[in-house]
Amino acid sequence: MSKVTFKDNWELIVGLEVHAELATRTKLFCGCLNEFGNEPNTNVCPVCLGLPGSLPVVNEQAVYFAMRLGEAVNCSVNRSVFARKNYFYPDMPKDYQISQYDLPTNTNGYLDLPEGKRIGIERAHIEEDTGKTTHKGESGRISGADYSLVDYNRAGVPLIEIVSQPDIRTVDQAKSYVSELRQILLALEVSDAKMEEGSIRVDANVSVRPIDESDLRTRCEIKNVNSLRSLGRAIEYEANRHINLYDNGESPTQETRHWDEISGRTRPGRSKEDAEDYRYFPEPDLVPLNPSAAELKLIKDGLPNLPAQRRKNLMDILGSDANDAVILVEREHDAFAVDAIELGGVKESIAKYLINNLADGMGDLSPKALAELTQMEANGDVTSTQARKILVELVANGGAPGEIAEHLGLETIDADAIEKMVLELIGEHPNEWGRYRDGDKKVQGFFVGQIMKATSGQADGKIINQILSEHAKAQ
Ligand SMILES: [Zn+2]
Repeated sequence: MSKVTFKDNWELIVGLEVHAELATRTKLFCGCLNEFGNEPNTNVCPVCLGLPGSLPVVNEQAVYFAMRLGEAVNCSVNRSVFARKNYFYPDMPKDYQISQYDLPTNTNGYLDLPEGKRIGIERAHIEEDTGKTTHKGESGRISGADYSLVDYNRAGVPLIEIVSQPDIRTVDQAKSYVSELRQILLALEVSDAKMEEGSIRVDANVSVRPIDESDLRTRCEIKNVNSLRSLGRAIEYEANRHINLYDNGESPTQETRHWDEISGRTRPGRSKEDAEDYRYFPEPDLVPLNPSAAELKLIKDGLPNLPAQRRKNLMDILGSDANDAVILVEREHDAFAVDAIELGGVKESIAKYLINNLADGMGDLSPKALAELTQMEANGDVTSTQARKILVELVANGGAPGEIAEHLGLETIDADAIEKMVLELIGEHPNEWGRYRDGDKKVQGFFVGQIMKATSGQADGKIINQILSEHAKAQ
């Protein structure tokens, strides 16, 4: 396979670490509620505050969710061991985070992007989230802050950290990978996957190398990316920064960098710790997780249709092209499309309306109403302009398209009547007609506009155009 060039003769190498909050009712090791947006420090107890003598009890639902994700991304789901990751930072009052280290729950999986590229998944392990610090001061950063506030509501919330192989070669693949993973998490109902609320957080490991080189060069880990757009911009900026350094005979240092949305740049954070800095050791207060083959089979058999399968179904049933299928599944409108077709709707029109007119949602529109509307349009009972008007009404207030057409006084004007009007118009405007016949397409709009005006928009534009071109040929 030929390599994708990022710039000149450089190849982009990206691996992503996606942290997703698991949508459990309670935290990972205690009974505190796992809820976003509550008063600071209200969902806390001795366990998640790390008070001496408190003991963790693992949340069964979190373990089940993590294994469900593992099965969905083709991982081997293993016997796993929790480990203490030791570090001192005020957002972690125990001075360690319970995570998994050398024996994670899920290993060696993969995910196929819609475009076909396969991205390896090294591991997907369970860990607890940290609290949240807010630095008060002009900079909003710890350096130069007047004081800092800490909220432990998030401390101990269950996370799954999904670590990809460095298989990503373009900015689009990086965005597509996160989007696909997000849709899988939603389909599995294991995370609400809201990037803007921080329930999905992405760190990107970025490096570049000459296109003919096979060794990996120094990478930097970019943190603080909170939208797909930022992810794309951050990767692009960082890769260019590396290339410029190499071009100047320098090289990047391995470090953590923060993405700054406003300046559009990354800036250095702490130098990247190696695993040994954390002094990992097996968590003595928790037993290993050891799922039986029967339990794993139950999880695997219970997986829902995943986005890739749903796209395939949509292409089979709707006959829509791959791009439409990607968009409709991403918007979670695919089940609606399939229902509308099964209720007798016209495939092409359903795809067209869903893609172009219903991006913001269906409102009160039902699959049945959409099916009927597309039939009315196909039968010539309403024009496409009228159908769009009815659609707006259906989204806003629901109802049946036939009744709305009647209520709005929409009726089509038959072709004979339109033809008569066109002929009159031609008689009244010989100069414009001459230009039309000479191929001046701009006057076409003039004729269509005049007829639309005379019929208050009830004539079918397609029919007007047809009549115009037939008459031009006949003369
Ligand atoms: Zn707690």
